[in-house]
Amino acid sequence: MKVLLAHYQEIALKGQNRPWFLRHLAHNLRDALAGLDIGEVRLPMGRIEIALGESTDIDEARRRLRTTCGLANFAVAGTAPPDVAAITEAVLRDLPRARVVPSFRVEVKRAHKQFPGSSPDLERAIGSRIQDETGWKVDLSDPAFVVWVEIVPRRAYYYFDKEAGAGGLPVGTAGRVVVLLSGGIDSPVAAARMIRRGCHATFVHFHGQPFTSRASIDKVRELVRVLAPYQLGAHVMFVAFGELQRQVTMAVPAAMRVVVYRRLMMRIAAALAAKVHAHTLVTGDVVGQVASQTLDNLAVVDAATRLLTVRPLVGMDKEEIIAEAVRLGSYPISILPDEDCCSLFTPRHPMTRARLAEVEAAEAELPIAEMVRTAAADPEIERVQWPVLK
Ligand code: ATP
Ligand code: MG
Repeated sequence: MKVLLAHYQEIALKGQNRPWFLRHLAHNLRDALAGLDIGEVRLPMGRIEIALGESTDIDEARRRLRTTCGLANFAVAGTAPPDVAAITEAVLRDLPRARVVPSFRVEVKRAHKQFPGSSPDLERAIGSRIQDETGWKVDLSDPAFVVWVEIVPRRAYYYFDKEAGAGGLPVGTAGRVVVLLSGGIDSPVAAARMIRRGCHATFVHFHGQPFTSRASIDKVRELVRVLAPYQLGAHVMFVAFGELQRQVTMAVPAAMRVVVYRRLMMRIAAALAAKVHAHTLVTGDVVGQVASQTLDNLAVVDAATRLLTVRPLVGMDKEEIIAEAVRLGSYPISILPDEDCCSLFTPRHPMTRARLAEVEAAEAELPIAEMVRTAAADPEIERVQWPVLK
C-alpha cells in the first residue's frame, strides 16, 4: 500500500498545545487534498500518514502538499510489515533501478524503540542487500540517493524522494489578518510570511482608477493566485483610491501627501478588517527602502489606526526579499509594469520626517471619516477558490 508520509517540525516543539496544532494540520490536509481520492489521515508517532486510494492523482496531491503550511517535508512512501526481511524485500522491489545512482545510503529511524536491532545495524543489513543487487556504491556522508526507512509500532515506511513542505504553522492557528497588497515585490512576500505563521489573510488593494490603468488590478489578481494555495483560497478587495488622492492633493502640501495617502489606506483597511473579523494589518514596509518608509513616517502612519500593524520585512535587505519573491513565484508578476496609485499625484520629494501634529492639522482640512466610510462601503470583492487551477 502506498501512502503520503509527511513530517512537521515546529509543531513538534509545542508542549500542551501540540494536539490542537495537529488537529488544525490534519483538518487542513483533508481540505487541501479534497476531491483527490484520499483515505484516512492518521498521526502515528510524530508523523502524518495519508492513505492513497486507487485513483489518487499523486502528482496533484504532491503539488498541494508543497503549499500546505505546517509541513516540513513529505514523500510518497511504501509500507511494509515491521520486519527487516519484509522491509528489505519491499525496498528492493520498488527501487528505481533505471536511475543512475552514483552513491547511496540507507537511513533508518526507529520511532518504535522496542523494534529489535539498532538503526545502524538495520541500515547495514538493508544497505548491503541493495549493494549486492544493484552494484551501487555506498557513501554515508554525501550520498546522491537516500533510502529512508521509518519504523512505527505496527508498520514500516520506506521512501526515496523527499520533498520540502511549506514549513511554518497550520493556517488558521494564528487568526485573521488583512494584508495591504500593492502590485510590488514586497507586500506579497510579507503576506506569505504571515500565512506561513498560521494567519489567514484577506487582501486589500488600492487602485487609481479611473486615473490609472487596470494593470495593478490584474497584477494583484495574479499575486493572490500565487498566495491563495498556502491558505486554501482567498478573498481580495479592490478599493478605488484615485478620487480620494485627488481630494488630498487639493488640501495637503505636496511633501506630506504620501504619508496622508498611507494613513488613509490604513484607516480604510482597518474598516474592512472589521468586516472580516481581522484585528491585524500587514504591510510590506521596510525601514529606509523609500522616503515614505522612515521610522518617523511609519510611526505617523501607525497612529492612523488602533489595530496592530505588522511589517514582517521591516529589517530585510532588498536582495533577501527578492530571493524570497523568486522562491515564492511572485517575482515575475511583481516586476511587470503597472501604474501604482501612489505614484499618482505624488511629489518628487516626499518628507522623510513627518510630525504627527502637522499631518493631523493638514488632515483637518479634509472630511477624513466620510472619505474612509465611502471607500470602505462597497469594495469590489473577488474570491479565489480552492483548489486554485493552474
Ligand atoms: P511593495 O513592493 O509591497 O509595493 P514598496 O517598496 O513599493 O512595497 P510602498 O509603495 O511605499 O513600498 O508601499 C509600502 C506598503 O504599503 C506596501 O508594502 C503595501 O503593504 C502598502 N501599499 C502600498 N501601496 C498599496 C496599494 N496600492 N494597495 C495596497 N497596499 C499598498
Ligand atoms: Mg509599492
